[in-house]
Amino acid sequence: MENYRHILLALDFSEHHPKVAERALDLAHKHEAKLSLIHVVENLPIGDTSYGPIVPFDLDLTEQMVESARQRLNQLAVSLQLPKENVYVEIGSPKAEIVRVAEENGVDLIVVGSHGRHGIALLLGSTAGSVIHHAKCDVLAVRLRADE
Ligand code: AMP
Repeated sequence: MENYRHILLALDFSEHHPKVAERALDLAHKHEAKLSLIHVVENLPIGDTSYGPIVPFDLDLTEQMVESARQRLNQLAVSLQLPKENVYVEIGSPKAEIVRVAEENGVDLIVVGSHGRHGIALLLGSTAGSVIHHAKCDVLAVRLRADE
């Protein structure tokens, strides 16, 4: 089996993310692969009680979230001795952006967490399920359990 050359670690900053990061880091070392990090800031519609969800997203709030995500990923990159170019902070749907960034940057393995406790039906509706379905490269879904 050929070594992976570029691994993309998708981080949602949940309490489980260190476990997912550990697996990606371990694989990157074993394969002597480049490691990149991605976090996607979701631009959820902001509801308005009188007019409904007419504001697609709050620009200031989105910018703050992007800035805070960038700081967290940059800190992690420094601690892992990764250059800043290996950090991607995107806005949009995590499912679509993870796949797009992987394709555009020659990634050959994506590492995501997967909440297997919800069963296969929910797994397929999850970020991990969608990335597995749409990515053109290999995807490692690191199993996350509620009791860990
Ligand atoms: P979920 O199925 O949405 O609970 O997420 C499972 C995994 O998808 C997480 O452990 C991350 O690896 C990835 N993921 C989810 N949301 C994001 C996000 N906003 N940015 C980057 N990765 C994400």
